[in-house]
Amino acid sequence: MTLREHNLRVYNTLTRRLEKFEPLAPPHVGLYVCGPTVYGDAHIGHAKSYIAFDCIVRYLRYLGYDVTYVQNITDVGHLTDDADAGEDKVEKAARAKRVHPMAIAEMYTRRYFEDMDRLNVLRPDISPRASGHIVEQIEHVRRLLETGHAYEVGGNVYFDVSSFPQYGRLSGRNVGEMQAGARVEVNAEKRHPADFALWKRAEPGHIMQWPSPWGPGYPGWHLECSVMSQKYLGETFDIHGGGMENQFPHHEDEIAQAEAASGKPFVKYWLHNNMVTVGGQKMGKSLGNFITLEEAIGTQEKPGRWDPMVLRLFILQTHYRSQTDFSEEALEAAKEGYERLSRSYTALQRALHGATEGPVAPAWGEIFESMKPRVFEAMDDDFNTPLALATLFEYAREGNRMLASESPSYQTIQLFFSAFMDLGGYILGLDFAGEKTGLKGVLEIAGARDVEGVTSALVRGLVDLRADARKAKDFAQADAIRDRLAEAGIALEDGPDGTTWRFK
Ligand SMILES: [Zn+2]
Repeated sequence: MTLREHNLRVYNTLTRRLEKFEPLAPPHVGLYVCGPTVYGDAHIGHAKSYIAFDCIVRYLRYLGYDVTYVQNITDVGHLTDDADAGEDKVEKAARAKRVHPMAIAEMYTRRYFEDMDRLNVLRPDISPRASGHIVEQIEHVRRLLETGHAYEVGGNVYFDVSSFPQYGRLSGRNVGEMQAGARVEVNAEKRHPADFALWKRAEPGHIMQWPSPWGPGYPGWHLECSVMSQKYLGETFDIHGGGMENQFPHHEDEIAQAEAASGKPFVKYWLHNNMVTVGGQKMGKSLGNFITLEEAIGTQEKPGRWDPMVLRLFILQTHYRSQTDFSEEALEAAKEGYERLSRSYTALQRALHGATEGPVAPAWGEIFESMKPRVFEAMDDDFNTPLALATLFEYAREGNRMLASESPSYQTIQLFFSAFMDLGGYILGLDFAGEKTGLKGVLEIAGARDVEGVTSALVRGLVDLRADARKAKDFAQADAIRDRLAEAGIALEDGPDGTTWRFK
């Protein structure tokens, strides 16, 4: 596929500038995003991050780029304290529930994907697990030791930040200040307070541990991202994404580990999403002001407070680099917006079914052509989803006006419908039919005006099939049809004039 014409600019945290997007080897794009630590339920803050990068992937693919999207699953090594202290988060959750840490990791990994599926977030091409890449991580530590960028003390291996002068470039910190700042916990083993663990010695009772040249232990959290991103995307790749709060120390450490070992630049563009706040305060586990995705959008089995698409639309209303302030009112407004879009979607789709062929009406053709560049203008501007959404609402408005005009042709309606779906469905990832299930929902989507009448026709059809089965002496089939209808709440009564049906 050839690339569409575009003028995409992205804000690169590394240079603190908007830069023209020029991948290293077009049309290929390598993208890595820090994934979840799987020890608890995801909340709305996580949804923001992964929806943001989902739209980035979607737009790049829409432009014709061949994107390889890698997003890790952290199932080992992420400690409760950033300064290489505290407990492993997964092990701590496992102890509380008295199960093996891997069972915790497995359970929350599944839940994470279920939540993301419901939010219409495309799955990454590769979801590597940290625990599945221990060999590669040990090899990387060995290389850093050999090249003089790391040192070992009693089974712990630390990265020596003084060996990497560029340390602090991404987050704009300098190592000298860090020493004076003393916010980093004192650790007598470290030569410099900013040094960080590559490999941790396993204390007695630590379950997630592996043999290594430095004794039994486990990798530091930052290491997995350097190692797994480079394994699947190469030593230098195009985009690394993640939450702003991970710029330091996580991403800074990733750069140090990768570049010290390879001697090459690690990543061309660093993209960071901002957080979700509640009344100006960060939504997070530590503050206890978070809303889990289970509560917000429910599960397959039970509905949540909002349709998943309402939450998605709410998040897209803010630029990914701005803070999203959560409130009930804002979600209500998003709900109204989503319903408005859904009504336009349904109206356009219905009209398409009934329309007759004919040329595009010139007046509507002109309006359409004038709107088309706005999609690219919005998304080329560092993936400006609020602006893209505004354009989608405009498509909906103009689409409604067009439908109200004198019997528009199939081609005229199609023009608006496909633009609406390209932007709303493909790029922004909104699903306008997703939450409608069951016969009634399906009929509504299909635009059936007479839902009761169609239900009656369908039941009648099944009753006739049952009669045919009985005539052919296939009583098993006849009974199966009766039972299935009974499950759906419909009772059949056989009489001299045939079979009648009623709701039970
Ligand atoms: Zn990471």
